[in-house]
Amino acid sequence: MKIPFSPPFINDDIIKEVVDTLKSGWITTGPKVVALEAEIKKFSGAKEVLCVNSWTSGAIMMLRWLGLQEGDEVIIPAYTYSATALAVYHAGGNPIMVDTTEDFNISVADVRKAITSRTKAILPVDIAGFPCDYDEIMNLVNEPAVKSLFTPTSEVQQQMGRILVLNDAAHSLGATYSSGVKTGSETDVAVFSLHAVKNVTTAEGGAICLNLPEPFNNKTLYHELRQMSLNCQTKDAFSKSKAGGWRYDITGLGMKINMADVNAAIGLAQMRIYPELLRERKRVFSIYNEAFKRESWAIVPPAILNGKESSYHIYALRIKGISETQRDQMIDEISMTGVAVNVHFIPMPLLTFFKNKGFKIEDYPQAYNNFKSEISLPIYPQLTAEALDYVINAVKKAYTSVTG
Ligand SMILES: *Cc1c(COP(=O)(O)O)cnc(C)c1O
Repeated sequence: MKIPFSPPFINDDIIKEVVDTLKSGWITTGPKVVALEAEIKKFSGAKEVLCVNSWTSGAIMMLRWLGLQEGDEVIIPAYTYSATALAVYHAGGNPIMVDTTEDFNISVADVRKAITSRTKAILPVDIAGFPCDYDEIMNLVNEPAVKSLFTPTSEVQQQMGRILVLNDAAHSLGATYSSGVKTGSETDVAVFSLHAVKNVTTAEGGAICLNLPEPFNNKTLYHELRQMSLNCQTKDAFSKSKAGGWRYDITGLGMKINMADVNAAIGLAQMRIYPELLRERKRVFSIYNEAFKRESWAIVPPAILNGKESSYHIYALRIKGISETQRDQMIDEISMTGVAVNVHFIPMPLLTFFKNKGFKIEDYPQAYNNFKSEISLPIYPQLTAEALDYVINAVKKAYTSVTG
């Protein structure tokens, strides 16, 4: 049996929505993007939502908006997809990596230790869709001692008056934090990824959620950022296409990272059925959990814990006491059966670019431990009970064969 790792969910309704856009006479940023933003806003409870062409570009724009200066620090986990760190570099900041905890997420204790007068933002990542401890993180940045250490280097930072919390929510659309509060509404800024492998997709895309405190006005900011995502041009192509709407101005140095309607159409049709898709992901997750909980060698990933619930984006199985080489052998064995698995993630200090920046894996023991024993199993709505049995057997057989 051939089981791909993460094929996109495409049904007739989604195809119809895309065709509708193609036939409408308007294919780039326009009504479908606005409709998708409204859907994500309603679903997540975020105050405002702006769609862009990727998580990465959205995060870069938000950090540029924050006005990072040379030497400004942004705290991130060592255990995440590299975009989290790369966005910080692109925005002119200095990423400070901290270790993770057993649940894969950033260690708040280590965040506290990493805060200096140069810290401008924290980017916690909801790994696999399981939310971080946001009450703790938001309390931390609001502590009087932490606030008095804060030294703004831009007008926006001055208005902020404290460290900004930007949730890398690339995995966690639909996750709940603290009994019903959805990710996207819990931090100053949260960015979802709508990349092809994510829970909801526009092929490529990202959604920036804004929940900034006073004196910011999220609605005004939405309009400013929308312009910033369109080269800081005062009129987008849609308004310019109307009779008499030709004159515009460029007000600053923006980026060109807007989402096209043809992409938004995919996400729009997916959002309409997302509660169902989420239930199906949960079904798959539960079947794996039932199967692996019985095995003394398996560590099942967190899903529902301390009032939090995952978005079931990745099934991150860990194997007790296994070496990195044995894990790699298990992956080879599983792959030979036709089941595609993955590893989430290679800690950044193991990658060339970050090694060259001076990061060392020895400084992140928990991140390494999580990595060396982790295998991500396929998880998506289309997986049948039969396919899941096949995956489970492949993993069990691989364990037996590798550990003798
Ligand atoms: C996918 C992913 C991103 C990047 O998303 P893009 O939309 O591809 O830019 C960022 N962070 C994490 C944790 C991711 O998994």
